[in-house]
Amino acid sequence: MSTKILIAPLRYVQGPNALSEIGEHLAGMGVSNPLVMGGPTALSVCRETMALSMNEKGIKSDFVPFGGECTFDEVQRIKDACVSGAHDAIIACGGGKALDTGRTASAGNAVNAGVVPPEIIDGIGADVPCIQVPTIAATDAPTAKVSVIYTDKGEFETFLVFQANPAMVFVDTQIIANAPVETLVSGMGDALATYFEAAMSYRTDSPVLAGGLSTRTAQMMARFAFDTLMEYGYQAMLEAENNIPGQALEAVVEANILLSGLGYESGGLAAAHAIALSWTRVYDRFGVHPTHGQFVAFSTLTQLMMEGRNAEFLDKIYGFCRSIGLPTTFAELGLNNAADDAIHMVAEDASRSVLITSMPSATGTPDEDGGFYDPNEIFNCLKAADAYGRRFE
Ligand SMILES: [Zn+2]
Repeated sequence: MSTKILIAPLRYVQGPNALSEIGEHLAGMGVSNPLVMGGPTALSVCRETMALSMNEKGIKSDFVPFGGECTFDEVQRIKDACVSGAHDAIIACGGGKALDTGRTASAGNAVNAGVVPPEIIDGIGADVPCIQVPTIAATDAPTAKVSVIYTDKGEFETFLVFQANPAMVFVDTQIIANAPVETLVSGMGDALATYFEAAMSYRTDSPVLAGGLSTRTAQMMARFAFDTLMEYGYQAMLEAENNIPGQALEAVVEANILLSGLGYESGGLAAAHAIALSWTRVYDRFGVHPTHGQFVAFSTLTQLMMEGRNAEFLDKIYGFCRSIGLPTTFAELGLNNAADDAIHMVAEDASRSVLITSMPSATGTPDEDGGFYDPNEIFNCLKAADAYGRRFE
């Protein structure tokens, strides 16, 4: 395959108190009767402003609560609510899982990309435009035509790829600034991986989720996400701690959501996300379940070990993580008992992830255990990433 591709949402809107303008944007898109879904916290901060803005434009709507987990059953429930109310769009408000559910429930067909070979799922959603309203900047999921599906126990089940990206991603930075600062920090953990993973995908000519090879444009966006974090990450955290939608926060929210979102989907994923998603296999070993961004941050450090980065470079990235409170050791990640058997389970699971095939040492076809990578090397790099983090203690 030598064809390059870049995909993106049709519209991206960001700014303090932007939500008071959502009715205008919906009207401009021809949406007249959306179904709005979200968890209780997300709806409590969005509902009134959105309803007022939509009323001004004569847009009617229904609100439906989100159940909390992005499972196939929850997707079906939201789809049914959309179809039975004859809604012409789904607006998903909240964090990663609510937004993933909204994207899936509004999709037409989906490709189950977590199985080899991928399978098509007909009519997974209501086939209506999807509008994403992230109320936290904790992941880079909102811009993509990809959703992660979990089991009802919260374990990673599979990921789905849809036909189209969201019609609109709408980010009110005052709402993001008011959210717990840890959510912005998690988003920086997710965005930290983007440049490293995109660079590996580019180097190995690996196909990306967008459906072809990465463009130079996507690589530039991934790199710019990284540069923005290095330049403004710490300052953005301080602004978020004080609920200020300042310049640094504006820059980092754009890096977390837009640059990292386009950067991962059209620039490529690699070991960091293969490992991050595999941590959920040992969920019972954690006192408190880490966030996606926390898993990705530590898994990025592991990928840097796999890349054989030198101490000078590692010090820069570990230093950044430590400055904003991203985990750099098993203990900081919340792993109560970092026994080798648990680390081996993560390594073995990651070696079977299709995402790891973009690493230079991966094999193109799976071995008899379904692995694309030597699990012992991943195990060693996980341990090395933890050991390097512990040297700062
Ligand atoms: Zn991610």
